Amino acid sequence: MRSGTTRKMTSLAALLLRVLLASTAFGVLSAPAALRHGSFIVHCEPLLPNDPARDPVTHLMDLQRPAMYWDALAELVGLAESNGHFLTIMFTPQWSVYASLVPARRLQVAEWTHAGHELALHHHGEEALIFGSGWDGFSNLPSLQSNTNFFGDIPFMMTQGIYTNYTIRSATTEDGDWPDGILYYLNGGGTTYTNADHPGDLISTASATSMVGLVTGSEQRMAVWGLKMRLFTHEICQTQVLAEVQAALTDFTPCDSNRWLIAFVTHVKNFYDEKEHGHYEELFQQMTANGIQLMAVTNAAAFMNLDRPVAPPVMSCTPGETNLWITWETTNEGQTYQVQTTTNLLSPNWTNILSTVTGDGSNHLAQISDATNASSFYRVIVQE
Ligand SMILES: [Zn+2]
Repeated sequence: MRSGTTRKMTSLAALLLRVLLASTAFGVLSAPAALRHGSFIVHCEPLLPNDPARDPVTHLMDLQRPAMYWDALAELVGLAESNGHFLTIMFTPQWSVYASLVPARRLQVAEWTHAGHELALHHHGEEALIFGSGWDGFSNLPSLQSNTNFFGDIPFMMTQGIYTNYTIRSATTEDGDWPDGILYYLNGGGTTYTNADHPGDLISTASATSMVGLVTGSEQRMAVWGLKMRLFTHEICQTQVLAEVQAALTDFTPCDSNRWLIAFVTHVKNFYDEKEHGHYEELFQQMTANGIQLMAVTNAAAFMNLDRPVAPPVMSCTPGETNLWITWETTNEGQTYQVQTTTNLLSPNWTNILSTVTGDGSNHLAQISDATNASSFYRVIVQE
């Protein structure tokens, strides 16, 4: 990741230099701290397993969608690049397979990623099935594995097509099926920008997130960095977003450039359906004019100096007559754990109890004596 970052910093440095040179002509020595990093995410959708157009007999993975939209994706990539920007291209497994089938397409993706675009994961999991938007056919959930549309589990999904040739860092997925290596999770879309205190889905900073409660199994403990992206999908919403960007650029000057990310998302289908692409070009030019480099999410996040977030430990509690036992899983990555208690969750005053525990990768059992309050709350905090 470090070497990829260095390459991207060179192009950013060149861009900043241009901005500074332009400013110097007017006697301004340095631009005020402002938004500098942006990302543009492109969702590449499958033809879903429950789509009526899918072959009901063979239930093979259907590649009609990527076949129909591939050239539109290439056009969008070219439009971004000709304006000096780089995309995060999120492939569902269907696109990953389609991209792998002929050398020309494999080469195309290799050229895109070499130039600075990023290949990322777009996965429609169980939640998509629940909300009716369709499922891409892969899941770790046992309940889905007897479904006739089931193609395989998540580790198997990551062997499909060209995924294996790339380090996949960024993703969107509607459930907790996080493949190893995912560090950045993009969500949001429809929440409008109001002001710097309520930036909606347009501007965000990384916050640790996990899917605790959504799934069972090992995935639920995996923490990733969550970032937002704003829908840039159809004409009305594009006009609205362009206006929001204008307001945000003012509100976020000055701001900590290495903390905030402005991000957008569209679907290849939207780009394909809309014959005129003026709004895309307008957005790209607006970014350039304001010194913002649209770059791969992984590269933009590198400016935030993020290490992998720590997943909250999963606790369980066994009450006895006067004693209480708390267990939690520890890691052996140098983290220490501290048990805390409070009697009131509304205005909590957390106090340390017991001594700190250094993780060793096994379950830790802590005994709390004289736990005789009618009710108490306990938590375990993790320290790096
Ligand atoms: Zn999607």
